[in-house]
Amino acid sequence: MKEKGIKVIKEKCVGCGACIKACPFGAVTLESKIAVIDLDKCTLCGACKEACPFGAIVIYKPQGVKTDVSGYKNVWVFIEREEQKIASVSFELLGKARVLAGDLKSKVVAVFLGSDIKKDTQELIYKGADEVILVEKKELGHFIAENYANTIVRLIQKYKPEIVLAGATTTGRSLVSRIAVKIRTGLTADCTGLDIDKEKKLLIQTRPAFGGNIMAQIITPNYRPQMATVRHKVMKELPPDKNREGKVIEEVLDGKIIDDRIEFVKFIKEESYKVNLADADIIVSGGRGLGEPKNFSLIRELAAALNAAVGASRAAVDAGWIPYSHQVGQTGRTVAPKIYIACGISGQIQHLVGMQSSKIIVAINKDPDAPIFKIANYGIVGDLFKVIPLLVEKIKSK
Ligand SMILES: Cc1cc2nc3c(=O)[nH]c(=O)nc-3n(C[C@H](O)[C@H](O)[C@H](O)COP(=O)(O)OP(=O)(O)OC[C@H]3O[C@@H](n4cnc5c(N)ncnc54)[C@H](O)[C@@H]3O)c2cc1C
Repeated sequence: MKEKGIKVIKEKCVGCGACIKACPFGAVTLESKIAVIDLDKCTLCGACKEACPFGAIVIYKPQGVKTDVSGYKNVWVFIEREEQKIASVSFELLGKARVLAGDLKSKVVAVFLGSDIKKDTQELIYKGADEVILVEKKELGHFIAENYANTIVRLIQKYKPEIVLAGATTTGRSLVSRIAVKIRTGLTADCTGLDIDKEKKLLIQTRPAFGGNIMAQIITPNYRPQMATVRHKVMKELPPDKNREGKVIEEVLDGKIIDDRIEFVKFIKEESYKVNLADADIIVSGGRGLGEPKNFSLIRELAAALNAAVGASRAAVDAGWIPYSHQVGQTGRTVAPKIYIACGISGQIQHLVGMQSSKIIVAINKDPDAPIFKIANYGIVGDLFKVIPLLVEKIKSK
């Protein structure tokens, strides 16, 4: 197997030259009307393969050829925007990236793509970035996975980051999976913990596996960058430090990064986002202990008294008592409010992984041995049908 995993199938190539135009590195030429790839210039970005209308270019995984990991440096965070504002998951990742970069003695670099976004770069520096790589382009104004992936692949090839982090959001997930495939490196989705093995300088990526029954630790020793996604609210955002200084690198990329087969038409916000669990300061959640759907009114009453959002366990959602958009846990939302009140929820691991970062956890459960009490700061052992009305009365009387 050749060192570089790319080849031209001569029988299919008609010498049209589409690959020559597409290659940003000038690595393709024609010889006797057949495309020839200069392996010294080629970075395996895949632009030629995508441009070839005849399927004449093949990129294959080079077996046993590992990345030379020595030249890779710095911790990158993909900065996601939500309705033209920086998504808070990106700030959380900058906070974590600072810790990782501290262990690696490297820099935190924010990768910021969009249109008319330069004004927001300072905020990224205040919240942890040492450098911001800024790519401003009209076509990057709205997130289109293919265009963003093409852009970031080019940046990775140029700067060689050691670690790339993104939010485990719809945007982050659709983006980094594409990048990992194009770059041919590993990706761990939905991490709940990130650390550095200080001896080997490797990123330890922790995530629940087998239905949350084990916490798997995953490493990427042979390929770079090491890539991971992390859910919103799992990591802690740093408070802004207006004395922090950083560098903004404005990148102008030439060559084809925009996929003109795709056009942005309209952004329609998913209905379930209205529940807005992720940003609530207080969440009151109900579980199977409520017994039947109508009893969710108790949870809603307590939530209204506290100006809180309503959450639920999967058991309550599966029973059809409340829509899925309220579910907290491994297969629902990850939340980290200031106060999380779990009512009639036993505290199985799949629920805990979605709320254990809450600042204060209050549990109401009639079973004193319920696992939720192990992580609760305040536990009320009692019948929720008696406890909740008393709480509501007390709060309302204040
Ligand atoms: C792959 C996978 C993914 C999953 N994802 C999630 C997820 O995202 N979120 C999630 O929540 N679960 C998830 N689960 C399910 C999880 O394992 C539990 O089954 C679920 O969390 C249990 O919900 P519960 O605590 O409401 O119900 P139970 O475990 O049945 O607990 C009910 C609790 O209510 C208490 N109770 C009963 N009556 C009263 C009363 N009158 N007053 C006070 N307390 C009372 C009981 O003592 C008990 O502790 C997942 C499971 C799997 C396998």
